[in-house]
Amino acid sequence: MTPDEFRNYGHKVVERVARYLEDVESFPVQSQVQPGWVRGQLPSAAPDEPEPFDQILADVDRIIVPGLTHWQSPNFFAFFPANHSGPSILAELMTAGFGVQGMMWATSPACTELESHVLDWLVDMLALPMDFKSTSLGGGVIQDSASSSALCALLAARERAGAFNVKRGGLQKGLTCYASREAHSSIEKAVQIAGLGSDQLRLIDVDDQFALRPDALEMAILKDLDEGRHPTFVCATIGTTSSQAMDPLQEIGAICRRHQVWFHVDAAMCGTAAICPEFRNFQEGLELCDSYCWSPNKWMFVNFDCNCMWVADREPLIRALSIQPEYLRNSATERGDVIDYRDWQIPLGRRFRALKLWFTIRSFGVRNLRDRVRNHVALAKEVEEWIAADSRFELAAPRNLNLVCFRLKDGDRQTEELLHRLNTSGMIYLTHTRLNDKFTLRLSIGQTETQRQHVERAWKLIQQTADF
Ligand SMILES: *Cc1c(COP(=O)(O)O)cnc(C)c1O
Repeated sequence: MTPDEFRNYGHKVVERVARYLEDVESFPVQSQVQPGWVRGQLPSAAPDEPEPFDQILADVDRIIVPGLTHWQSPNFFAFFPANHSGPSILAELMTAGFGVQGMMWATSPACTELESHVLDWLVDMLALPMDFKSTSLGGGVIQDSASSSALCALLAARERAGAFNVKRGGLQKGLTCYASREAHSSIEKAVQIAGLGSDQLRLIDVDDQFALRPDALEMAILKDLDEGRHPTFVCATIGTTSSQAMDPLQEIGAICRRHQVWFHVDAAMCGTAAICPEFRNFQEGLELCDSYCWSPNKWMFVNFDCNCMWVADREPLIRALSIQPEYLRNSATERGDVIDYRDWQIPLGRRFRALKLWFTIRSFGVRNLRDRVRNHVALAKEVEEWIAADSRFELAAPRNLNLVCFRLKDGDRQTEELLHRLNTSGMIYLTHTRLNDKFTLRLSIGQTETQRQHVERAWKLIQQTADF
């Protein structure tokens, strides 16, 4: 493709994406294709000869679009938002256009410095602890996902505990990790990947709000200490996946300090809310944590992938993940006056992800980011009131931010049937969880363009569909 052809087709692609943004509401929210349908449309072998670009684009409409679930539909209320926005999409295009590898400062200084700078901005925007700034002992890095952040945090914790160093005794088998029963499955996965056994993870009980019980945590730690094990890593969650429960950071942090355990906070979904001062109460105690992660790619209008991770002290993280082969040696690294983000993550190579954060924050302005988030939370509050006023339904958990959990009082079978009917209608898309062992619907409000009219329509549809 010549630059001129690129220009021509580039315009067409941008036009196609713009049209998608305009008419995304016209598609069934959840893809209605059967398993294997998409592959059935594709030739069994790759083409030997070049194909016209127009034909490729036509196949996008014919084969790909029907197989999409429309996460960017304002009627998408499932899982969690994975929202985006115009400025973010355009930044992704530029990232692809520049095609740089940001593994070290020397391989693209702008990639590293913009990342450090925007993550410093975010410390102020979200009122995070000042230790997180790159100008202090800590610092921020963009990871591909909250799962990667959890794993990196665990590896840093293991490093700080001196447990992976064979010379220092190979304590690996005695390490223990803690998270609530409601914590995200990525914590369990991180434990597995780090080579710990499932018997080295303690899933701690929760209270009636589904938040981790600090008393139960401390008991578990004391028991492990008593039995000669080495408590190493605690993960608390700001906004659990099932119900957006908020673990009490202050108390958990104090326990971690007392027993010198690494304290990781996973705010993947709900961290965005802290751009609004009125929602910052849930991060009280964050100054006690060692690492923190939050995903702008969920609720801050930035395309996946973009997970921001901060550490209060970068030294153990870098010690855990730094390797220096000859072919990466360079003078900037050797002088030690630059950040090389390859030492802050699992892979070597890295995308220029800071560009889309920068575009999005500048293009919205903090004020507009805040307004959208406030609006989503206000809408969720309204839905909560509507549900409480309909005697057929009950709320299944306290609503903290933009997620409402509810069910039919008639029980699991009826609630499951309601969900099935709603999702096959194509009008909206919801998902479920289990709370107190009951089938529970989750209505998550966070797509960039979701307005009151969409939420009102969704609730009317739920009410009507519940009559069966
Ligand atoms: C979404 C979510 C995750 C997993 O996120 P990935 O970025 O897909 O790994 C982890 N923890 C919480 C609390 C989440 O909301």
